Amino acid sequence: MAWFTRDKPPTEGGGDEERRVRTEGLWLKCEHCGQIVWRKALEDNLMVCPKCGHHFRIDARRRLELLFDNGKYEELDADLVSTDPLNFVDSKTYKERLASMQEATSLPDAVISATGEMNGRRVNICALELKFIGGSMGAVVGEKITRAIERSAERKTPLVIVSASGGARMQEGAVSLMQLAKISAALMRLDEAKTPFISLLTDPTTGGVTASFAMLGDLNIGEPGALIGFAGPRVIEQTIRQKLPEGFQTSEFLLEHGFLDAVVSRAEQKNYISRALDFFSYELRGTIPERAATGD
Ligand SMILES: [Zn+2]
Repeated sequence: MAWFTRDKPPTEGGGDEERRVRTEGLWLKCEHCGQIVWRKALEDNLMVCPKCGHHFRIDARRRLELLFDNGKYEELDADLVSTDPLNFVDSKTYKERLASMQEATSLPDAVISATGEMNGRRVNICALELKFIGGSMGAVVGEKITRAIERSAERKTPLVIVSASGGARMQEGAVSLMQLAKISAALMRLDEAKTPFISLLTDPTTGGVTASFAMLGDLNIGEPGALIGFAGPRVIEQTIRQKLPEGFQTSEFLLEHGFLDAVVSRAEQKNYISRALDFFSYELRGTIPERAATGD
């Protein structure tokens, strides 16, 4: 073969395709403002668009790295896996779906329960993984969160749950729905143990997760622009037969209407939560003796 012969001329067909794929990895279009953003700049900015401030979704591991000191944490209850109690089959069997999700995400189920330090204070954090069957809550997610709550109550360790979920997991039917009540009851005991729980709601937080723990925080914080709701907008429009207002079900809309306590940007979340926990611990120290004195 002559030295100047090439199998695939770079100016035609395959060559172009290859080049295009490569640049796609370096640059991406912001899904909000439509501007072209350098991926590295986006990653350095915690996956927040440097041009418009749009918060891209990030996975559960990245969440934990951002919240824990030096990104270090210990994972808990990592051995819990679902047993497919209903032998559920949709387009494929639930067992197959679980296996493919476990392989794709390297996670046993849709939540990571972790403990570590946040600005020097011990905290327990659970982060939901949207990529695992839409971050849906079945028996494993429910049990891991309940155990985290119980651990927090026992040792008076503050709890943070980062939600990103489509709601209860259809494939586990009523077993999923039972988790709502189980978690809510555990949170009641956490409240009695006077240990704070901060809920961080990210895009999207909907269905049974909104209907249980995500809205039960001592503070409920939304990430900017996150979709937060129970039913989807189309279902609501059909039910109430009215057009919904602009920006309905975003963090900002919910803050304005009293459903959230704050909307906090990703870069501020760790310090914001730490300051809130400082405040809670000061409040508790200040009020417990006084309440005891009045017999309350
Ligand atoms: Zn943007």
